[in-house]
Amino acid sequence: MAEKVLAAVRVAPGKTEIRDYPMPEIAEDAALMKMEVAGICGTDVKLYQHPPTKADVIMGHENIGIIAKAGREFTRRKGFKEGDLVFVEHYVSCGKCEWCHRGEYRHCENTDWRNNPDSIRYGYTSAEKAPHLWGGFAQYVYLPWNAVVHRVPSGVTPELAGLVTPMANGVEWSLFEGGVGYNSTVLIQGPGQQGLSQTVICKQAGASLVIVTGTSKDGARMEVARTLGADYVIDVQKEDPLARIMEITGGKGVDVSLDCTAGAGTIPILLGVEALKRKAGTIVVQGEMKEFPNFPLEKVTTKYITIKSARGHSYRACELALAQLASHRFPLEKVTTHRFGLKDVDLAIRSVGNQGGVQDVIHASLMPWM
Ligand SMILES: [Zn+2]
Ligand SMILES: [Zn+2]
Repeated sequence: MAEKVLAAVRVAPGKTEIRDYPMPEIAEDAALMKMEVAGICGTDVKLYQHPPTKADVIMGHENIGIIAKAGREFTRRKGFKEGDLVFVEHYVSCGKCEWCHRGEYRHCENTDWRNNPDSIRYGYTSAEKAPHLWGGFAQYVYLPWNAVVHRVPSGVTPELAGLVTPMANGVEWSLFEGGVGYNSTVLIQGPGQQGLSQTVICKQAGASLVIVTGTSKDGARMEVARTLGADYVIDVQKEDPLARIMEITGGKGVDVSLDCTAGAGTIPILLGVEALKRKAGTIVVQGEMKEFPNFPLEKVTTKYITIKSARGHSYRACELALAQLASHRFPLEKVTTHRFGLKDVDLAIRSVGNQGGVQDVIHASLMPWM
């Protein structure tokens, strides 16, 4: 095994450097994961341009790899041994709190970077903190005893497994938060990797109508949305989306609206509120704005709308997402469009963000050994 580990480190907003770190000592209760694929998503685009910390950070929070070294206690407690292909959640748990016991590691204080300066979260934690390897844009990632590890089912390639995070968000947001199920009608705003994953999950759950919206630059993504089962796609720059949704639904509106847009401000929430059925619809929001001028609270109340927050994924959502990938029921290889090596982290993130990189990227797989 090499003595040094190469990593792409975010050293300033929008700036990456390749650095090396010492190969860590692996304690009896810890493990080392050799990276296969780090998925890149819209959050990376945001974190890259607007880092939440001044510290140097190895980004990469959607991590698939092979257990390269496992301490005896790690294997005994967690059941993973050297050679296993795994997905590691970016939330590093405390293992003691109510949220951890519920498998809702995303809410645990131990991984809450907004409120806890000592929190640990892959792709967020400072690379200064020993043993440094806290992100997937590196050859190896360190797994302490409290890493949350899932087995990748056989027949699922590392690249396909790289979709587990958007797919798990699909399960969490549409099924668990939105309550999508048999015969549901769903509006999915945004045809990126997140919206496409929601499309698959909603179809699998039995939704009778899935409408996906996008803009004119999303042509290729809209085609994939159709292939994955979207019943209608709407280009919001060519058609009035609300009029079209009402036409499709015979004036009724939809049961559930899912916001999978990035940087679209108040528009998807306003459209979602309007497009929901008259009573008791549910809207799942990402809510990136600090303020929302003229929020239509009266309409929310009179339409008896439930607003839910999109907040990552639970353990169960990850397991269901992995099972979905293993089923090969949907041609999800149409979503894993591009691969990038470690030296191309900057290009990969800009491509995902549509900021002058490679065109028509839906999902980018960062492969540190490529
Ligand atoms: Zn992500
Ligand atoms: Zn906890």
